[in-house]
Amino acid sequence: MAPKDGIRCWICGRTVEEVQRSIGTPAAEPSDVDRNLARVTEQKARFYRVATDWTEGIPEQFRNMDYNFIMGNPSQFKALRFVDDVEQAQKAYVEPLAGISAQAKKGEEMVVGEFKVSADDPRRRDALARQMDEFAKKSGRSMSMLDGQRAFDGLKLADGLRFVRDLGVLHFSLQQKLLEMDQDDEKKKMPTFGISMAKIKTFPRAVPLCTVCESLIKGL
Ligand SMILES: [Zn+2]
Repeated sequence: MAPKDGIRCWICGRTVEEVQRSIGTPAAEPSDVDRNLARVTEQKARFYRVATDWTEGIPEQFRNMDYNFIMGNPSQFKALRFVDDVEQAQKAYVEPLAGISAQAKKGEEMVVGEFKVSADDPRRRDALARQMDEFAKKSGRSMSMLDGQRAFDGLKLADGLRFVRDLGVLHFSLQQKLLEMDQDDEKKKMPTFGISMAKIKTFPRAVPLCTVCESLIKGL
């Protein structure tokens, strides 16, 4: 039951306005979600920088060679120092996207990086599926092709490297999306300060109490 306007806390005698003015907007302590989001954002930026460097300084004759041919013969192309890094990025970020997209379609539990989306969380699943669909539409290559080299068929080296970069960035973006949704949920749970009718032990009727006093009494 909400108290009438202008009502004062039974204990400290303040109105809602006075309580809010004295407390201000509570500064939330950074949560695990905030920390994870900061970390993933950092990783994404770092990966983008590293992956952009791959394409810098490739001699012209390599640029136009077939991506799959070069990646399939790494020992032949030792001069291209990024080959190992690209292979690792494919395993860590690109190939899992095929599984994530399949899990989304089947409505199964999804694993995105170190984060899980449970099977009964259609809101998060749909949000990720939408993001992957948009990417697939733009690139013209479906996520299900990403578990092998098929998705790279016909790409020249420079284009293939850019594609790996964009897919890696997508993998981080999906994690960011999940964490942003977690953050929104946390914000909704933050207490708002006000006055509400509450019952105090040993007291026969409910009285108006501000959030501060109510939480103090609870601790008694
Ligand atoms: Zn009070």
